[in-house]
Amino acid sequence: MERFTPYYKDMTRYITKSKVLSGLKCPKKLWLQTNNPELAIHSATSELNISKGIEIGNLVRRNYPDGILIEHVDRPDLAIAETKTLMQFIDAPIFEAAYLFEDSFIRADIMAPTEAGWRMIEVKSSGGVKEHFLNDCAIQTWVAQKTGVKIQNIVVAHVDTNFVYAGDGNYDGLLVEEDMTDTVSELLPDVPAWLANHRNILKNPVPKTRMRSHCKDCDFKEHCESEQTEYPLSILPNGRKVIAELQDAGFEDVRKIPVGLLTNDRHIKVWQSTCTNLPIISPILKTEFEKLPYPQFYLDFETINFAIPRWTGTRPHQQLPFQWSCHIDRQGMYLEHLEYLDTSVSSPMRAFAESLIEAVEIDGPIIVYGTFESTVLKTLIEFCPDLEIPIDNIIDRLANLLPWLQNHYYHPAMKGSWSIKAVLPTVAPHLDYLQLEDVKNGTLAQLAYLDIINPGTEQGIREHKIANLLKYCELDTKAMVEVVQFFKGSRDS
Ligand code: SF4
Repeated sequence: MERFTPYYKDMTRYITKSKVLSGLKCPKKLWLQTNNPELAIHSATSELNISKGIEIGNLVRRNYPDGILIEHVDRPDLAIAETKTLMQFIDAPIFEAAYLFEDSFIRADIMAPTEAGWRMIEVKSSGGVKEHFLNDCAIQTWVAQKTGVKIQNIVVAHVDTNFVYAGDGNYDGLLVEEDMTDTVSELLPDVPAWLANHRNILKNPVPKTRMRSHCKDCDFKEHCESEQTEYPLSILPNGRKVIAELQDAGFEDVRKIPVGLLTNDRHIKVWQSTCTNLPIISPILKTEFEKLPYPQFYLDFETINFAIPRWTGTRPHQQLPFQWSCHIDRQGMYLEHLEYLDTSVSSPMRAFAESLIEAVEIDGPIIVYGTFESTVLKTLIEFCPDLEIPIDNIIDRLANLLPWLQNHYYHPAMKGSWSIKAVLPTVAPHLDYLQLEDVKNGTLAQLAYLDIINPGTEQGIREHKIANLLKYCELDTKAMVEVVQFFKGSRDS
C-alpha cells in the first residue's frame, strides 16, 4: 500500500538552504540527496561536525537569555506560523525562526529584534568566516526578506580561536560576531539564479559530475567512486590542474594516459606502476632503514579537539593528545608494546606527557608517520613547560617514514595515497584496518573517546570502546614496524 505523507512532513517539496548550497558545490550531490538519499553514507566527520555545531548553537543562545526556541522540526507549517506570531507580538530573540517563500524554506539560527527591524545571526563552529557561509547567509536573508522581514544586519557568529578557557565555566569571549551585511547584500541579486539552477538540476536526469577534491567529505563518495573506473585520474596526488586538463582532453583512466604527457615525478610513478601493475621500490629504502639504530621506537598519537574548550588553559579546536601507542624494537628481541589511554574526564595532557617520556627512554630513533606527532609535542610543551627538555629530546629523535615512502615506494593498490592505511595492505596483507571493529580511523577514534569520557555512557559500552581504541592505535604503530621490516627485507626492483 502506498504510504501517505502529510504535505507538511514532506520536506522534499521544499527548497532548503542546505540543498541549494549542495547544488552550488556539486549538482550531482543535490540530485542524489533529493532522489537517492539512501545512497548516502554519513561519515564520522559529518557526525563530529554536526555535534560541534549543536554545542556551539546551544552556547550562543546563552547570549540571548530572553530568546524563544521554535521547535516543530517535522512541522514546517507550525514553525512558520509560530515565527509569524512571535515576530508580530513579542519583542524577543527567536531561535530557529522559520520562513517560506514560494517553495523555498529556511530556518534562521537567531533573529534578534533591533530598533528598526531584525538582526539575523548565523552560528558556525569554525574559527572564522568561510566563503560558503556568505552564500548560506544570502539564501537565508533573501527568503526572509521576501516574506516581508526587514533585516538590518546579517551576522556570522563563530569561535575565536585565541580564546583561552580559564576553567571557570565562563565562556564570555569564546564567540565573536562579525557583521557581514555589506558582503552578503552584494550576493542577494544572485539568489534567484541559484534557485533556478536548483530547480533545473532536479528537472533533469542525474548530472554527470567529475569527482574533485571536495568529494573527500561527501556522503555520496562511495557511490560516486563505484561508478568510476578502477584507476580514475583523481588518484594522481595533488594533481588538480593536470587532472582537469586531462579530463578536458577526454581521459578518465590513468592507464590510458599516453607516454610523455605527465611531468610530475610522483604522477609518473603512479602512472608507471598502475600501467605495469607492479610496485616500484627504490633500494634506498632498504639502505636507509638498515641504518636506523636500536632501540627503535614506533610512535603514534590520538588527539581530540573541542569547539568549546573543556579543560583549563586550552583553546577552541586545539589538538589535545589523549592516547599514544609505542612499539619498541630492540633488535633480535621480541617486539615490546607500550600504550597509554587517558580515560579520566579531566585534562589528559600531563599524564600523557609523563607516561610518554618514560616509555621512549632517552636514546634511539622515534619513528612516526607524518608531522602530526611533532606538532602535538610542541603544543604539549605549552601545557607542561617544566617538561620542555625531555619533550624536546623526543622531538629531536623523530624520524618521519612518510617522505621516505612518498619518494621511494608505490604500489598500484595504493591508488594515489601514501597514508599508512593505504600502504599497510601492500606490505602486510594480514594486517588490515578493515579487520578492526568500530574504530578504523582518527575521526572514529575521537568519537569513541568522547563516549569514553562521557559519564552517561554505560559501563559495558565504555569498556568496549576502550578496547577498540587501544587496538586501533596499536595497529598504527605495528603497521610502521611492518613497513620498516618489509623494506629491510626487500630486494632491488
Ligand atoms: S562524491 Fe563528489 S561528485 Fe559525487 S556527489 Fe559528492 S561531491 Fe558530487
